[in-house]
Amino acid sequence: MSRLTGVRAIMKDIKETLQAGKGQEFINLSPGNPVILPEVEQMWRDYTKELLDSPDYGKVVCRYGDSQGYEPLIDAVVTDFNRRYGLNLTNRNILITPGSQSLYFYAANAFGGYTTSGQLKQIVLPLSPDYTGYGGVTLVPEALLAYKPKLDIDEPSHRFKYRPDFSQLEINESTGCVLFSRPCNPTGNVLTDDEVRKIAALAAPYNLPVLIDSAYGPPFPALNFTEMTPIFGDNVVHCMSLSKAGLPGERIGIAIGDEQVIQVLESFQTNMCIHSSRYGQAIATRAIASGRLADIATQVIRPYYQKKFDVVESTIEQAMPKDLPWFLHRGEGAIFAWLWLKDLPMTDWELYQELKKVGVIVVPGSSFFPGLREDWQHKNECIRISLTATDEEIVVGMQRLAKVVQEVYSVVSA
Ligand code: PLP
Repeated sequence: MSRLTGVRAIMKDIKETLQAGKGQEFINLSPGNPVILPEVEQMWRDYTKELLDSPDYGKVVCRYGDSQGYEPLIDAVVTDFNRRYGLNLTNRNILITPGSQSLYFYAANAFGGYTTSGQLKQIVLPLSPDYTGYGGVTLVPEALLAYKPKLDIDEPSHRFKYRPDFSQLEINESTGCVLFSRPCNPTGNVLTDDEVRKIAALAAPYNLPVLIDSAYGPPFPALNFTEMTPIFGDNVVHCMSLSKAGLPGERIGIAIGDEQVIQVLESFQTNMCIHSSRYGQAIATRAIASGRLADIATQVIRPYYQKKFDVVESTIEQAMPKDLPWFLHRGEGAIFAWLWLKDLPMTDWELYQELKKVGVIVVPGSSFFPGLREDWQHKNECIRISLTATDEEIVVGMQRLAKVVQEVYSVVSA
């Protein structure tokens, strides 16, 4: 916990590059920070004004609240989800956290790590690569265990998709909890409903919580570009974040799950930080209860990033030589594109340095394999491309990338 992990460590290098290169124009395709979309900002402004003008203001910001969360927000989530998905949630199924990252920290340390009798309980990531932040959630690093995926490759169209490898995946008495993102940061993968149900069923006999990180999922921010059903019930903890719905600064995460699991997480939270900021929770209440957040998600947020993915895809398609073994991951959601350069003659880190020389910054892919212990060439053959840049930046960035990639492969074949 006392040092940076994964992509956070690389962000330091990126920041230094940007600062040192004053005068040099960089196309920065690294950020995970969402774009400020005018309609989204306006919504938060409107609800902030409403809060300021309401008699609730003092009670919201001048008093401590309940650790489980601001009651009206919990009510709004229960009402919205019961109506939207036909569930029977009560207030006891909900926990509001200061961002969803903290939720994974609570879960990883409450359910994973060493038991009082010294047994190691693993935090299983069923499909690697996955969110880099999982690399920093446990106080017991050896508890994190990720599984290599199967690759579904479509050679002629230069596309691929990761799938969980059920012939390898082990969930058993030495597992503490299961965790994955859907849609996935960094790959944009969306595990199918069947795959999710199969993972949940593997964990059910051991009564293990399966945390489905829905930071990009429906109903908000609804950054899925393909059909997907949120899966609830029994041992599943549906975890949401308002960060990609335009509120990352206010730190709001929402866990929906079994009452007993929620109680454990709530105790952890009370001990650690008492509760999440109530100003953010109060404006989120209004945005969820009115239905405006869900509408903006599907009408504004989703189309914005989906179009960006189309720009990446069409430019790469045009610029990348057909005879090189490049594979773009199917763009099923989130705010990133993921490119695999098979048999890349250098590491992803070296490619990142080469791209910096032509003024393009991407994120080397090797930081997205937390918990994967096996040596695997593939770990050093991928890059993450953010969809937060302008169309023009993406086009120029992808053209430069294609040129560098071509040079890198030709040195070897020469
Ligand atoms: N999970 C995924 C998949 C993410 O991409 C992120 C942030 O980028 C988080 C969780 C953390 O989000 P939060 O701001 O809710 O802590």
